[in-house]
Amino acid sequence: MDKNLIEVSDRIERGERLSEENGIKLLESSDLLSLGRLADFVRRNKAGDEVYFIANKHLYYTNVCVWRCKFCAFSRNLNDSDSYTKTIEDLILEVKNSENGLSELRITGGINPKLSFEFFENLIFSLKSAFPYLHIEAFAPTEIDFIALSSGLSVEDVLIRLKKAGLGSLAAGGAEVFSPRIRREFCPKKTSGKRWLEITKTAHQMGVCSNASLLYGLTETVEERIDHLIEVRNLQDETGGFNSFIPLPFLPENTKLFSFSGSTGFDILKMIAVSRLMLDNFKHIKFLWIYGGLKLGQTALSFGANDLGGTVIEENKGVARSAGAKNFGFTTREELIRTIKRADRIPFERGVLYQARN
Ligand code: SF4
Repeated sequence: MDKNLIEVSDRIERGERLSEENGIKLLESSDLLSLGRLADFVRRNKAGDEVYFIANKHLYYTNVCVWRCKFCAFSRNLNDSDSYTKTIEDLILEVKNSENGLSELRITGGINPKLSFEFFENLIFSLKSAFPYLHIEAFAPTEIDFIALSSGLSVEDVLIRLKKAGLGSLAAGGAEVFSPRIRREFCPKKTSGKRWLEITKTAHQMGVCSNASLLYGLTETVEERIDHLIEVRNLQDETGGFNSFIPLPFLPENTKLFSFSGSTGFDILKMIAVSRLMLDNFKHIKFLWIYGGLKLGQTALSFGANDLGGTVIEENKGVARSAGAKNFGFTTREELIRTIKRADRIPFERGVLYQARN
């Protein structure tokens, strides 16, 4: 084992919380197999051998976005020929065409000033009325921030009304990396990391749970990645409202940052392992297979991950696909189950709150 990992490894075996300094040592190490072994040890003790997945569908209501983050390949200007804003009827039809066996709808979109609060409220209400058995996970904290600012309502009032309309939980997204330096450089118009955490805390206190994520592979430092994980861990200590953590590798294709090299399999597995080791108050660390493929996902199950994401019907116009993810589309339950079983783990089809599916 890398000698710089020995002290951290002892702490992990004693079940102690890791410090920022420990986290930096983990991320700076190239001893991937030792990181994997430690993360797998923690995963087994904390989460057991089940590997979770969900039958879900992603819905994008608009790709118009006035924030235009440099790392985003999904957003468009209002007048671009391929910009779109869907009607509520369009979205209901999209779900009808693929609803068979779904548990969850995940709804997100760009920051489009043409959309009023009533649109968002009606969207949730109409989908929940049409599909009462589906859990609706919608809007990242950044979208909630925009909805509140543009409507003049407080974040609390927005969440009360959306919850009443049928909102079940908030979508992951918009967290990127909290570092103000990185946000200034790559997404200066976006909600700050501090505000993202405040909005998420408000939602959790109102009983609206969510997921946390980290977008990595921009120019953030090792310290900035670890600080991000510690901020998320602190909020989880306070509210317990995160269901899972999702490390997201930056995909440069079709973005303004296309010259970036993108994360390798080594980077992706290391980030999964370090997330598992730093986030001692998260049971679920998710590898989203659309970002790295099922084969790498299967390997990630030995590096701390215990969730492969969803069947993700029709991601093909979505965020990952726009950025060149090669694994867009959907997979089947059978394929996910086969992938998990071949890794000698137990497949578990979950609901949004990690409960067994009826
Ligand atoms: S990442 Fe989100 S906020 Fe940023 S440009 Fe893309 S859609 Fe807009």
